[in-house]
Amino acid sequence: MKKTIVLLGPPGAGKGTQGEKLTDEFGYTRLSTGDMLREAVRNKTELGMKAKEYMDAGALVPNDLIIGLMNEKIKEVSGGVLLDGFPRTVEQADALGKVMDVDLALDFDVPDEVLISRLTQRRSCPDCNAVYHLVTKKPAKEGICDKCGAKLYQRDDDKEETVKNRLEVYHKNTRPLIDYYQKKGVLTVIPSDGDINAIFETVKKAIQ
Ligand code: AMP
Repeated sequence: MKKTIVLLGPPGAGKGTQGEKLTDEFGYTRLSTGDMLREAVRNKTELGMKAKEYMDAGALVPNDLIIGLMNEKIKEVSGGVLLDGFPRTVEQADALGKVMDVDLALDFDVPDEVLISRLTQRRSCPDCNAVYHLVTKKPAKEGICDKCGAKLYQRDDDKEETVKNRLEVYHKNTRPLIDYYQKKGVLTVIPSDGDINAIFETVKKAIQ
């Protein structure tokens, strides 16, 4: 099975959902820069204070802050690892390449109009970071996380104004990584506008 996997794709493409399933079924460690940053913001750490204004605007947090954070976490992991939301720029991808070989980059491919509806209807767990959707992935009990019982919330950056900005940022800064990993011969595109379990079957084949 592939050891180091980068989850690429626009916000709302299903990186978090498919990443969670890979973690549950195959024991990968999922490192999500977005989750780490949100935790830092909640705990009002120095990093959190610096990152907040960028996140609220749907902009990328500067590379130097992110690369330092990720390098530290990567060192602690042994076994299979999923990088969710990192790298997001070519500079971050080059920095990652210096500390680790990427075995597979999965590009979760979804049209923009689907993403806007998915993101604005997404609800997240502040404690265990599980993700839900008001229509397609409802929790068993409304507003409550199935996994840990915490009260679900809507991320500030999942509100419509910010979502549009995040998609623009994705097209400009992160989409070039598709070419970047294709040239390295490790890219697999996963069409992701469909049923979560059917998509997971494609993902499972790709990681073998
Ligand atoms: P996510 O949960 O992956 O959608 O990330 C939420 C927000 O955190 C993004 O909109 C960025 O502001 C910030 N962020 C997460 N990962 C990165 C990254 N690799 N580089 C820069 N900013 C990031």
